[in-house]
Amino acid sequence: MDLSTPVEKLFMVGPAYARRLKNLKIETVEDLLYHFPFRYIDYSLVSPIAKIQPGETVTLRGVITAIKNEYTLRGKKIQKGEINDQSGTIEAIWFNQPFLVKTLKIGTHVSLSGKADFWGRKVALVSPEYEILRKEKGPARTDTVHTGRLVPVYHETYGISSKWLRSRTSPLIEKVAPFIDDFIPAAIKDKNDLMAINSALKQIHFPKNNKEVDEARKRLAFEELFLIHLATFKRKINWQEKRLACRLHIDQEKVLQFSQSLPFELTRAQKRALREIFSDLGQNKPMNRLLEGDVGSGKTVVAAAAGYVAYLNGIQSALMAPTEILANQHYQTLKQLLTPLGVKITLLTGAKKKAEVDFDLIVGTHTLIYQRARFKNLGLVIIDEQHRFGVEQRGELIKKGRAPHILTMTATPIPRTIALTLYGDLDLSVIDEMPQGRKEIKTWVVPPQKRGAAYQWIHQQVKDKENQAFIICPLIEESEHETLQSVKAATSEFKRLQKEIFPDLRLGLLHGRLKSKEKSQVLEKFRKGRLDLLVSTPVVEVGIDIPTATIMMIEAAERFGLAQLHQLRGRVGRGSQQSYCLLFTELRGERIIKRLRALERTNIGMKLAEMDLDLRGPGEIYGTKQHGFAELKIASFSDLPLIEKTREAAHQLIKQDPKLKKYPLLQAKLKKDTIKVIEPN
Ligand code: ADP
Ligand code: MG
Repeated sequence: MDLSTPVEKLFMVGPAYARRLKNLKIETVEDLLYHFPFRYIDYSLVSPIAKIQPGETVTLRGVITAIKNEYTLRGKKIQKGEINDQSGTIEAIWFNQPFLVKTLKIGTHVSLSGKADFWGRKVALVSPEYEILRKEKGPARTDTVHTGRLVPVYHETYGISSKWLRSRTSPLIEKVAPFIDDFIPAAIKDKNDLMAINSALKQIHFPKNNKEVDEARKRLAFEELFLIHLATFKRKINWQEKRLACRLHIDQEKVLQFSQSLPFELTRAQKRALREIFSDLGQNKPMNRLLEGDVGSGKTVVAAAAGYVAYLNGIQSALMAPTEILANQHYQTLKQLLTPLGVKITLLTGAKKKAEVDFDLIVGTHTLIYQRARFKNLGLVIIDEQHRFGVEQRGELIKKGRAPHILTMTATPIPRTIALTLYGDLDLSVIDEMPQGRKEIKTWVVPPQKRGAAYQWIHQQVKDKENQAFIICPLIEESEHETLQSVKAATSEFKRLQKEIFPDLRLGLLHGRLKSKEKSQVLEKFRKGRLDLLVSTPVVEVGIDIPTATIMMIEAAERFGLAQLHQLRGRVGRGSQQSYCLLFTELRGERIIKRLRALERTNIGMKLAEMDLDLRGPGEIYGTKQHGFAELKIASFSDLPLIEKTREAAHQLIKQDPKLKKYPLLQAKLKKDTIKVIEPN
């Protein structure tokens, strides 16, 4: 048995459990050992029965002297046991576990852990965890797994409890963990004061005390980030070494003409991003750059300029957007900007399945991949809202060219720490400045008692000032695709508002189940001012540009992440008028309100993303599950010092030995592992 042994082969696992374990992404012994507890219950206080106080969480060791099933007055089955040690006797109560009278027979030596409390007039252990130390005959165990210690608690799934996991992991710690070769080079371990993998695994699952947990965590968090950095560095080397990209000539004069043809002056940040992009395009290494900029910061025009340069070099570009609405919008924008300059642009989406054969720039959704657009010489791939696409989808598009330059764009503010880790192989351009004349969006958190007043205010804004508003219905489920439920919620809210709240206003409804023609009709009506209010599911999150809309109202705001709320808010404030964002919540929890208030305080996406990172689940061992980002197992994206330290260590190693020839264990580990970000091959 070793790390690669499938869990199915383990004692007491078998195919049925193996299937369940798959839900937790556990398939091998290694996966099981790397399924770390996210907290521990402290059952380490072992007490003689006579000394147990009500309210205490304790462990006792004794012999079962009586046990039976009883019915309560309400007809529920409870199990009542009596346990005795040399100091005294105590009762233990369980609920609905009739099999216990067979498991914990009279005479069994047990260890029980749980909370002591009054049961009637007497102190008893209520629903304690139990562990058999010795049946009537046989030797007694001393090394307990579920009681009498810091007991690990794991993420569970249907049919797989923490107790089950402990029982399977515990023997592996004895039989496998001691023989694992450490893949972190000794020098790095020494320098960073890390313990060996063997003890780290033992201590993370079955620590003697909190200090042992900390030591183990230190090693495992280092390992996790170190591997990610190594993988990104390797990927970068691979990507650039293997391919010869087309070196583009930058015609400064033409570029200048382009920017002068715009109805506005490019911001300093846009110009800087363009310089960085052009400098990449001018080399025969393929560009792999991430363009990050808040909603409305003007990424599209930067992409257009890159596409224009490609065109001037006789090279085709493709722009892929995550939704049809967005692809359409990009198509319109680019046509306006580039057609007068001679660029042939075409559109390909689920609704528009036929693209012209002869084009310089093609805009589309993921249909670009599946509808087999015919490329002559695709040399520039632009991907909008890149995190909304899977690695494979991006890879598929990239494959349509020979070593194309890649520009990915995102409005999701990626905190520096995350960018360093997950996108370490990408070069980063940040548009950290908004076009001039934009006003800050005034944001208010609206508590339940102010709902009526808020509706009145919206009504007045629409009637008197001819403003337009988005009304976003709650996020029902965290899912990429809209659920039927969300559609229903939006539809009924639309009806309610039209009938009861705003009978004299013109309302529209937008959701993902509308046909794409209906969608664009509704949007067009809204854009032209023939609708006052647009009730929508959160589909409008990405990209829509309607400069006349000035109010964004979001229902059940607490269900969204701050970054998402910020993106939604960015749908307004695109014109020169003052815009507003109203965040409704029916909840009154202090933490919730505090989190939402962050949006009142700042309009800067990056700041919000960083706050979000800090505000989420303090004290949890597990890393943050940022919306759309891969999850860390044990390290944390908010731990900048560790991220930098591990990055440096990985960098040094790769510099000495780019192929990791001297480190076969590390190579093997990398092959198997780690978070994949952009994999162009
Ligand atoms: P995003 O970065 O969210 O994709 P867009 O590219 O859609 O932003 O730009 C938002 C709006 O800002 C568009 O209407 C665009 O024409 C406008 N815009 C872009 N750059 C500038 C600028 N430098 N000055 C003024 N308006 C600009
Ligand atoms: Mg955009």
